[in-house]
Amino acid sequence: MQVVATFAAAREAAGDGVSGLVPTMGFLHEGHLSLIARAAAECEVVLVSVFVNPLQFGPDEDLDRYPRDLDRDVELARRAGADVVFAPSVEQMYPDGHATRVSVDALAGTLCGRSRPGHFEGVATVVAKLFGGLQPDRAYFGRKDAQQLAIITRLATDLSFPLAVVGMPIVRERDGLAMSSRNVYLSDQERHDALALSRGLMRVADAVAAGERSGTVLERLAADEMCEAPLVDPEYAELTDVANVINITRLDRPAFLAVAARVGSTRLIDNVHLDLVGDRFVPDRGVRIADAGVVRGGG
Ligand code: AMP
Repeated sequence: MQVVATFAAAREAAGDGVSGLVPTMGFLHEGHLSLIARAAAECEVVLVSVFVNPLQFGPDEDLDRYPRDLDRDVELARRAGADVVFAPSVEQMYPDGHATRVSVDALAGTLCGRSRPGHFEGVATVVAKLFGGLQPDRAYFGRKDAQQLAIITRLATDLSFPLAVVGMPIVRERDGLAMSSRNVYLSDQERHDALALSRGLMRVADAVAAGERSGTVLERLAADEMCEAPLVDPEYAELTDVANVINITRLDRPAFLAVAARVGSTRLIDNVHLDLVGDRFVPDRGVRIADAGVVRGGG
């Protein structure tokens, strides 16, 4: 395993084999590790980038307190099957004079784009740089960030990056909470109330499996659960078309039901993708970690 800080060193360390890239902001958990493990199963060489990207944080967001622990990340990435960890400094990623921004405006104005202006431009810019600088054959992203995944899928197509974008199921704690580096901010009571997000989404999944197709009904199932939790301040619950990231009133195409809420001072997001398989809608409830997860119990 090599830890490198420049694009040139990362390309040299990766060599010529079929390569998979897992972009992250570090403080790895089982969600990240599931992407690394899949990349290791499908590729000859796996690159993991660890970079807290200032461009995607708003002025009042948590850039300064975002959790960081590179040594731990390197060890976890190695155990999950990574060959190269690319951990550049901000100055290496954005040297003086860096002027280019990438935006996918058509998909970035809804959901999180409304409350986080500039966020997806920051994401698209850094991902385009990773794609261009590392030239992976495959790139792995979590369905946890559904709008981000849609934007990156479109970016790769529109900018003709010759790679496959792979979306992976949400990894959840045993009680259903979607894993997130930001979960460390939650107090015990907030952690308890935060379960309302996934509980509502599992109700949505049940309703879809039972034949419900009304956007209003599905959105209310998710919203009602959040409204009942005292420490949860809901931001949105929206049935959303996967391809265009627009709100839809009926489930009649591949979609996801996305929620966002503030729990105390922490902003959380979660979703359930509703995949069209043949003529049936199949909810992707994600996967729950086993008792001995790689991070906590895995030795
Ligand atoms: P982040 O470090 O939060 O920027 O996330 C890096 C990658 O890991 C993104 O593609 C995320 O969608 C993915 N990811 C984060 N949390 C999860 C999760 N709970 N399950 C699956 N993928 C995740």
